[in-house]
Amino acid sequence: MTTKKILLATANKHKIEEIKYLLQGIPYEIVSVLDFENIKEVKEGKDTYLENASLKALGYSKQTGILSLADDSGLEIDCLGGKPGVMSSRFLSEAKSYSEKNSMLLEMIKNVPQEKRGARFVCTAVLAYNGKVIKSFVGELKGSIAFEKAGHEGFGYDPVFYVPEYKTTLASVPANIKNQISHRANAMKQVREYLLNI
Ligand code: IMP
Repeated sequence: MTTKKILLATANKHKIEEIKYLLQGIPYEIVSVLDFENIKEVKEGKDTYLENASLKALGYSKQTGILSLADDSGLEIDCLGGKPGVMSSRFLSEAKSYSEKNSMLLEMIKNVPQEKRGARFVCTAVLAYNGKVIKSFVGELKGSIAFEKAGHEGFGYDPVFYVPEYKTTLASVPANIKNQISHRANAMKQVREYLLNI
């Protein structure tokens, strides 16, 4: 029987399901923030994905005494100098829906030609235990910003993120494909390999 535990440092149910799926087969019982009643939320707000993910992994590991895995991600757009990056969820306005934000983004760069619309999703995952960051991992998905929104799958900027390999937006590929190619999937594959080999 497995006695080792790993804590997913998030309360986001969608993310918990996705990461559990991506970490299948690791010799750990996977728990999350949702399994602890009095756990205090660890707030992000730092300048880099690594700092944010480290803060969350360390914060929840300290509170529970369990090896903790946190991730932080964002969208980087070449013609905006890599923005919104770590500010992705707050970009353009926190009050607006992603449907509105995506329309605003398309409008903002409507005159930028295809070759300058390069973009990537980046995900940094961090493992922490006993007050220390043990290891960090970076996953990436390269693409570009489309000229129009397309698709209803996924969330966030998926409708405007064009994936060359599939010749359509990330919101137009089925969830099981996104789960194989995404920045988070890529980072979690590395975490899985690491946990299987230590
Ligand atoms: P988080 O760190 O994974 O919560 O992501 C921060 C922000 O980056 C999200 O609120 C979205 O704006 C954006 N983002 C991250 N991953 C994705 C994705 O897979 N699709 C679309 N947007 C994403």
